[in-house]
Parts: sequence; structure tokens; C-alpha cells
Amino acid sequence: MRPDILNPLFAEVAALKGVGPSQVRQLGRLKLTRAIDLAFHLPVMMIDRLAVDALDESLVGRPVVVPLTAARHDRGGPRSPLRVAAVDRGGQWVDLVFFGQSASWAQTRLPIGVEKRIIGKLDRYGQKLQIAHPDVQAMDGPAPPQEREAVYPLTEGLTNRRMAQLVGEALGRVPALAEWIEPSVIARAGWENFAGSLQAAHRIDGGRDRLAYDELLANQLALLLVRADTRARRGRALAGDGRLTAALLAGLPWPLTGAQRRVLGEITGDMAQAQPMLRLLQGDVGSGKTLVGLMAMLTAVEAGTQAALLAPTEILARQHHATLTKQAANLPVRIALLTGRDKGKAREALLADLAEGRIDILIGTHAIFQETVAYHDLGLVVVDEQHRFGVAQRLLLANKAHVPPHVLAMTATPIPRSLALTRFGEMDQSIIDERPPGRQPIDTRVMATARLDEVTAALARHLDGGGQAYWVCPLVDGNEDEDEAAATTRAAFLKARLGEGKVGLVHGRMKGPDKDAVMAEFAAGRLGLLVATTVIEVGVDVPNATLMIIEAAERFGLAQLHQLRGRVGRGAGHSVCLLLRGDELSETARERLKLLRETNDGFRIAEADLKLRGPGEILGTRQSGEEAFRFADPGRVQHYVTMARDDARLLLERDGGLAGVRGQAARVLLYLFERDAGVALLRSG
Ligand code: ADP
Ligand code: MG
Repeated sequence: MRPDILNPLFAEVAALKGVGPSQVRQLGRLKLTRAIDLAFHLPVMMIDRLAVDALDESLVGRPVVVPLTAARHDRGGPRSPLRVAAVDRGGQWVDLVFFGQSASWAQTRLPIGVEKRIIGKLDRYGQKLQIAHPDVQAMDGPAPPQEREAVYPLTEGLTNRRMAQLVGEALGRVPALAEWIEPSVIARAGWENFAGSLQAAHRIDGGRDRLAYDELLANQLALLLVRADTRARRGRALAGDGRLTAALLAGLPWPLTGAQRRVLGEITGDMAQAQPMLRLLQGDVGSGKTLVGLMAMLTAVEAGTQAALLAPTEILARQHHATLTKQAANLPVRIALLTGRDKGKAREALLADLAEGRIDILIGTHAIFQETVAYHDLGLVVVDEQHRFGVAQRLLLANKAHVPPHVLAMTATPIPRSLALTRFGEMDQSIIDERPPGRQPIDTRVMATARLDEVTAALARHLDGGGQAYWVCPLVDGNEDEDEAAATTRAAFLKARLGEGKVGLVHGRMKGPDKDAVMAEFAAGRLGLLVATTVIEVGVDVPNATLMIIEAAERFGLAQLHQLRGRVGRGAGHSVCLLLRGDELSETARERLKLLRETNDGFRIAEADLKLRGPGEILGTRQSGEEAFRFADPGRVQHYVTMARDDARLLLERDGGLAGVRGQAARVLLYLFERDAGVALLRSG
């Protein structure tokens, strides 16, 4: 329940003075539906209001204070605005425009021939200069203070002045609130209280740091509460007897790496506890996370339960199914695949097998957690490459079993610590910091696209020598039609050069079975070259492919390029990654590609990407809105993340949790930043 003290702030915008249905709609376009949204709607900059004697073109767009003399009052018709033609001391004409004012009003406020002090933003309307809705003051009154004006993001029909007014009213609804930040933290940072900081932020005069910190603190508190709640539930201890895992290892051509063994110990250690595991497994591309996931699943099966493996794409689900079925071929485990594509009788039979316990391991896309899918006894959920999954989704998935299952999430890309804390802060971390031995570093080169002919010739030689390669085309404006067109054109070009039968194409718009067919041909080595959009970004594993060509590389995020590059260098062969770049490259773009050439360390690359392009780039959630941070850009306030984490811990562990004095204040914080939802979801679920 929302604390009463916040009710005025959470009122709909319609409750504000003078806000009618059409203004509600205008505000709605900016996603401003409640007073709090307005209070959090920060200006983009301040402009000084300029006192001038004469107007000219160069002042268009600025707020000005200028003496003007009215010369004519024009009122076209009852519905058109009132226009007052006025002239400045230098003879420049300007129209003063008023909506909803009468001519008689103008005669009193702006009598013809009398100089007045006019305050407003100078605009251009066609050929003319104009000021809409200015303030009108007498010349002999006190001069207006050299005020600065905040400039707000606007939408059609809303003036900056009106916005400032509404924001002001919303800010007036911010109550005095008890402090939720640890006293020593606030003292050291020298921050004002919440309301003061919010006001300062609206003057672009500080305040933002504290707001960012508040938001991160709310986030960390919510994650720790989720964690505490999940861990307090009674799960089930799953101790394997090693019969399946040992048999699997005996059948593999190589031993586990030291890092794989270490993280596996952490995972099985968790699973052997009655508290449900919440663990995030990180490791650079090619570090062998899949095998660790499989070992964990076999452990769950040994303990008599089922395991589910969730993959982000069908391509990946199928690949996992193929790999695991092969690796576990001689083991008594029943592995099945379920994707959104399975329909009708076959699907029903599979679901019956699952519900009655005739399937041990189910692999699939999100279809495996649909409502109609019932498990006999789900003990472990492994989420592969699902760094896109939000907390709420992870919680839903945990509700799939009678007893909360153990959850292991694996990320495709290494994630910087600050980001891991904001996104996976409720989980423990395991890191694979070692690649299987014998891997040669990938040789990364940057080349101008202008050298396409050379590149194609080198590619032809590579294929003639029995090698395989990928050619990745970038997404064009996120428009799938155009992406497809670009990839199709490139594939046609390459087919003409290299031979029709050697080149396959996959893109996001293809039907599932068609995609699979091409992938299977490529995996079997019958196709030499796979032209693709970023659908092959994560997880695809064809060790014989040792050449990766990425077109217009400057358009990709660094983490994404690293992930793509990780599709090669998976076998013992020498691998090359060619980054083709456009001609006009910005300095930053140059730097980014250089970093990629210099290092193969995914963590370093992810750190750089976080700073340069923000978390959405690394997590692949740019469009999903999953970040939902208003003030805290984890790329820029990384140092606050750990501070907020420690602060949240102190509050919960030392200061008596939400029931304590600081905890009561922190409840308000959770509501302010709408981190209450996750907590509520848990309590009800
Ligand atoms: P990722 O961590 O990117 O998901 P994968 O699980 O796809 O990596 O593993 C990459 C490749 O390394 C696969 O071909 C896999 O079979 C192989 N691999 C995994 N573990 C080992 C190991 N201990 N020794 C040698 N190769 C391994
Ligand atoms: Mg993988």
C-alpha cells in the first residue's frame, strides 16, 4: 500500500490546476500521467533571459525582456488568436500573440502608443518575429530579476511556460520526507534532502547526483528484498550422486577447465541447500558455459527431479538440443525440445510426457514456461544467454514449480560489476575466467569497406581451402524489411562471386524451419559461408568456422561485436575477424574499433561499452524499457552502485529492515521509484 503522504504526488495530472482533457492528452504523449511524472520531468538546460533594447533574428528561440510599443490590435475572428503588432526602439516589428484574450483586454494591457516591458520567448512565424503569451509589465515597475529559465522537453501544443507552471505545481506536492540515506553517506556527499535536490535538479543546479543515488538505492533495496524473500522460501536440496555427470565427463574428449570445475562446485553447493539457488554464471564467449549448465541439469536429474533450459532464440534452443543429445547419447536421460513452433498432437504428447515425468530435461524458448506447460517435478531452471530477462520475469519463472526451483542464469556477454549489480543484484555470481586450452587468440583486423574486392578474394581462398566463414550484415534502422533487403542483396552478391551452392542466408524474417535448414547445412559443413543478420549473435557454435566478417562494424555495440567475434576461435584453428568499416568514421568510432583490435577481454570491452553506449547495448534491452531508470545511468554513476548496495545492506541487516526508522523512510523511497512492484509480486506469489 502506498504511504498516504505520497497521495498528492501520485494524483493524476487532471487534478492539477487548469488541466483539462486536451492537456491530459498532450502530457500523455510525454508519458506524464501523474503529478510525480511532472516532478521527475527534468529540464534539458537553462537559458538566460536576455534584456535587450532591440530584437533581431539572432535572438530567435531565446527568452527576452524588451521594451515594445503596441501599434495595432488585430483580431481576425472569434476563433483566431489576438495579435498585437508592436515595434521595438530600433524599429523592428514583432507580433505579440495571445490565445483566448479579447480585444478589450488588449486595449487596457497594451494600449496603442504606450511602451511596455515585454517578457517572453522570441519565435519566428513565417517571415515575422513573434512572442506568444508574453508577460506584460509597466516600464516604471521594478526591473525583472535576471532570471534564468529552465527549458523542458515539450510536445506540440504545450508551451515551455505552461510546462514550467505544471512542474512547479507538481513540485509543490512533494512532501517533507524522512531521510532514507545512511547519515554518513549523505554527510560525506554533502547532499540536500530529497525535495531540495529535486528542486535543484529543475534549476540544473545540482541535485541530480542524489536523485541518481536514490534511484539506485531503491533498486538495490528491491533486489535485496526479492533475494531475501526467495531465499526464505523452502526449496529442495538436490544432491546428485555423480552417476550421470561422471559418465558424461568420461565420454568427452577433454577435461573440464579449472574454472569450469570451480563454478560447478559453487553451483552444486547451492543446489545441495534447501534454499533455492539464485546464481548468475558469467564467462566470456567460448568459455564453456553450456557444459556447466548441462552438468548442473544432470545433477538435478540424478537427484530425481526435472530440469529446464531456456534459450533466447529457436536457433539456439535447437543447437543446445542437438549438442546435449549428442553429449548425453549414452546416458539414461530423456531430453526433449519444445519451441513455439510445436503444435497439435506432437506438442500434446510432449506435454503429457513432461507432466508425468517421462522427460528429464526440457530445452526450449520461452514456450517452455507458458501457462499450459506443467512439469512433473521441476528442480532446476537454467536460463541461457538470457541477460535480457528482467527480475520480474525471473520471478514468474520461479513460480512454475510446487517448490521453488533452483535458478541458474548464464549470460552471453561478460557484464561489468556495476551493471551486474543493478540487473542481477539478487543473485550470487560465478565467473569463468579461463578459456579451454589450445585456443588461439582471434586475429582482429579493421578494413575499409572500399576494399570489398580484396576481402571477397580472400574469402574465396578461405572457402577453397575447406574453411567456413560468417558474413554479418548490420541491422538497418531496426526495420526488418530493410535489414532483410540488405542481407539478401549481400548474399546475392557473394553467391555470384563464390558460387551459388556455397552460400546460405539467415535473417530474422525467415520462417523457423527455413532458418533451421540453413543452420543445419552450415553446421554440417555443406555450406561454406553463412550470410546473416545479427540473429546469429549469441551462442551459435560451429568450431570449423574460423573467419568472421562483419560489415559496417561501426554500427554495432562493442559488446555485440565481441559476441559476434566469439562465433569463431572455437576450435584449434587460427581464426580471423575482419571488421569492415565505412569511410566516414568519427573519432569515437575509430577508438572503439581499435579497442576491439587490441583486446579479447570481454569484461574490459563491456566496461567500455557501458561508458560509451549505456547498459541497453550490453544487455540487448535498449528497446524493451527494462532499464527503467529515470536518473541513474549505470554507465555514468557506476561508483554509486556499490555505495547504494552497501547502504541497502546496512539498512536491511543493521538498521532493522523496513520496520526500522530508516526502513519506514525507505518504504517511501521504494514507492517513489516504483520498485514496490517486484516486492509486492513476491509477497502475493
Ligand atoms: P559459451 O561460454 O560461449 O556458451 P560454449 O559453451 O558454447 O561457450 O563452449 C564453447 C566451445 O568450447 C564449445 O565448442 C564446447 O564444446 C567447447 N568446450 C567446452 N568446455 C571445454 C573444455 N573444458 N575443453 C575444451 N573445449 C571445451
Ligand atoms: Mg553459450
